[in-house]
Amino acid sequence: MILLAALVLLACPAAAWSSVSAEHAVDIGNLTTMRLRAPATFWVSGRAHEVSELPLERFRPLTEKQVNRGITKDDHWIRVRLSNTDRNQPKRWVLHHETSYLDEMSVYYADNGGAMKQLVLSDRKPFSERPLDYRTLAFSHATPADGYTDVFLRLRYVKADAMTLNVYLSRADLFYNQTRQEYLVYGGYYGLMTSLFIIAVIFSLIMRQSVYLYYAAFLASSMLMWALLNGLAFQYLWPDSVFWHNEGFHIVYLAVAITALQFSRLFLHTVRCCPRIDRLIRAAQWIMVGGILLRFAGFYAPVLYLSFASLALLVLLPLLGLVAYRHGMRYARWYALAWVFYGLGLLVSVFSAGSTLFDWGMAPLAYAQGCSVLEAAFLLVALGERLIGWDRDRLQALELASQDPLTGLGNRRAFKEAFDRMQEIARTNALPVFLILIDLDNFKEINDRHGHDAGDRILTRLGGMLVRLSRPQDVCIRYGGEEFAILLQAPGAEQAYQMAERIRREFAANPTDYEGSRIQHTLTAGIAMAAANGHRLKPDELVRQADAALYRAKNAGRNRTCLHE
Ligand code: GH3
Ligand code: MG
Ligand code: MG
Repeated sequence: MILLAALVLLACPAAAWSSVSAEHAVDIGNLTTMRLRAPATFWVSGRAHEVSELPLERFRPLTEKQVNRGITKDDHWIRVRLSNTDRNQPKRWVLHHETSYLDEMSVYYADNGGAMKQLVLSDRKPFSERPLDYRTLAFSHATPADGYTDVFLRLRYVKADAMTLNVYLSRADLFYNQTRQEYLVYGGYYGLMTSLFIIAVIFSLIMRQSVYLYYAAFLASSMLMWALLNGLAFQYLWPDSVFWHNEGFHIVYLAVAITALQFSRLFLHTVRCCPRIDRLIRAAQWIMVGGILLRFAGFYAPVLYLSFASLALLVLLPLLGLVAYRHGMRYARWYALAWVFYGLGLLVSVFSAGSTLFDWGMAPLAYAQGCSVLEAAFLLVALGERLIGWDRDRLQALELASQDPLTGLGNRRAFKEAFDRMQEIARTNALPVFLILIDLDNFKEINDRHGHDAGDRILTRLGGMLVRLSRPQDVCIRYGGEEFAILLQAPGAEQAYQMAERIRREFAANPTDYEGSRIQHTLTAGIAMAAANGHRLKPDELVRQADAALYRAKNAGRNRTCLHE
């Protein structure tokens, strides 16, 4: 690896820094991994200093409380002496900063009071120029046996950003072990997210619905955002693009917000359930698109604030989920829950990074990243529940479409399906299929005399009677206005005839009481067999034959049953 960050021998007076006294020393004789804390000290300066002119007396102990520095452009100096009490072995160690977006970490170091050297680590240079192949700025050195190394670190942002003083010190061999474990965890994270992404893409292809595509786009930009924050994007995706590492992330933040909002709009049907909010979201999306264009046009600060505001806006999405839930979208509760997780993670991270309220360093960011998996999974559950809901609605609609609302019997559409089904069964059990077609006698007259409601009552009663007097495997249908049908299997025409007669007699013997008057009624039936003369009839041929029998029965004086000849 090329060391572009030049090693510079500083001709500085030994006295200035060699006064790093033994009381500031961290014993690294038994070093494993630690965060630099007191006896390490730190000092903040708004102005650039050379290491030789540092006011050592103003350095304060680096305690837990001092770690979070908020958003700042100040130089932060950390000073420590690493003392190797091992008399025989030099100790190789690695110092690395917690975050991947620190702009510069200058390391000044000297062994045993010797000449001080400087190494400038900067993320304004291509990744390949880093001395260590690691996702954050890192520095490695060996302290001589029974000796010490004085170290000054200068942490700096070129443009104001969230500063933490969390610097990790690890024994070199342990550092490489930890790095492997760390990358294993990242591998798990990105593997899981990629699986969800692939599922979303497959769903979008199968379902041909853009909501899945936007979910996939949201996952992709979300992964990219975390890869940027983890430093993995710079390490693996665009190691030569200082722009994307340092400034491009605003664009990715905006892409996350735009795709999250677009997914939400489609998923929750905001156009229908809350058109006003939908218009607001659309306006916000256009502003974000404008932000991306501005960034490409060279604007920095406005886009920075816009991108943070856009991410912060996502914290409101659980509320959007609640609004949709109150509009009857049950699956919106999963959506709301998903964003509660993510929202909390983002909120805590932003507060922790942007203020000095907490002393957590950037640890909440790892929590937020963990939440992003939960969020993605819950969104998938929400999408799944929506899909199941649709299927249920579709089946219900199909059922309704083949049901007569007055009598609850199947309608003409159900007749076709039942006919095919019964023909299939007949093929295996060899029992012939019969159709009994029933028509009420002089029903128009009954309607005229007693009213349409009375007619309806009679139709409903007859419907119930058909179900009661037929067998469970027979299919009762309201074929038309006052025409009914029964599809049944019977060994011969005689059994079908008997059934029709039973119904006819029962109907005639049980007049309908309606608003004080007793309405006498009769019906006429015609019967036909589906498999006649060795060839099977089509459903409309069967109906035509039964209708012909019915016609004959009507002509013969009504209130009787005729078989097709
Ligand atoms: P026929 O004995 O020859 O069958 O005489 P009809 O009066 O029953 O026959 P027609 O076909 O002339 O009249 C059928 C009547 O059935 C006309 C229509 O008002 C009535 N009808 C059809 N559907 C409904 C319904 O859903 N409810 C009520 N109440 N009446 C209906
Ligand atoms: Mg009729
Ligand atoms: Mg009639």
